[in-house]
Amino acid sequence: MRTAPIVAIDGPVGAGKSTVAMGVARVLGFRYIDTGAMYRSVAWLALRQGVNLPDERTVASVAASASIEFKPANGRPRVLVNGTDVTEAIRTPEVSAAASVVSAHPAVRQALVALQRTMGADGGVVMEGRDISTVVFPDAEVKVYLDASPEERARRRFQELVSKGVAVDYESLKRAEEERDRRDSTRAHSPLRRAPDAVVIDTTGLTVEQIVDRIVKLVEKRK
Ligand code: C5P
Repeated sequence: MRTAPIVAIDGPVGAGKSTVAMGVARVLGFRYIDTGAMYRSVAWLALRQGVNLPDERTVASVAASASIEFKPANGRPRVLVNGTDVTEAIRTPEVSAAASVVSAHPAVRQALVALQRTMGADGGVVMEGRDISTVVFPDAEVKVYLDASPEERARRRFQELVSKGVAVDYESLKRAEEERDRRDSTRAHSPLRRAPDAVVIDTTGLTVEQIVDRIVKLVEKRK
């Protein structure tokens, strides 16, 4: 039995999901679960083990045997994969592209969706990703789809990486992120799409506080 609501937040690269989801979790005292970090963790492991990324069976066995944990911290939770802290290592452009390839494998999704359902089962969570409202928790009490203009999304991703000290070229980043969105939205299994009952928020020109406030009000209305 769920004792508190589930807040599902989906959307494309750079729509502001992580910052907003962390803000909502903080205000409500909910746990924050970043499902993108889970796909990134599998990609990071597969790259490290020299696995051929299109090889679904091998990548799925990497996913099934991996221990992926979130450790609460100030701000973004730390991500531990088989005990190694990969919080920063999974944010490189190489891992971003690899995550989008491994996440298209149904067997990989099956393993991670099962883990996500266990993590969120009791409610009191803000879960962020691409398929939370449509596949992982279609019965979530609050469903939000965040979007922003392509220019705004590219600018945010660029600033995010620069602030982390990752060397990137704006034009090649924009191309790589467009390709990642294209793959995430056109894959056969669980593509990124808006749930018909999701509240769509275009974050272009809004502050983080304004968006967090809107979502918190949606949660409070359902209590
Ligand atoms: O959200 P983030 O950019 O960290 O996600 C990395 C990649 O993981 C996405 O490009 C997508 O391919 C995959 N992903 C997914 N389903 C989710 C979350 C992320 O397929 N629920």
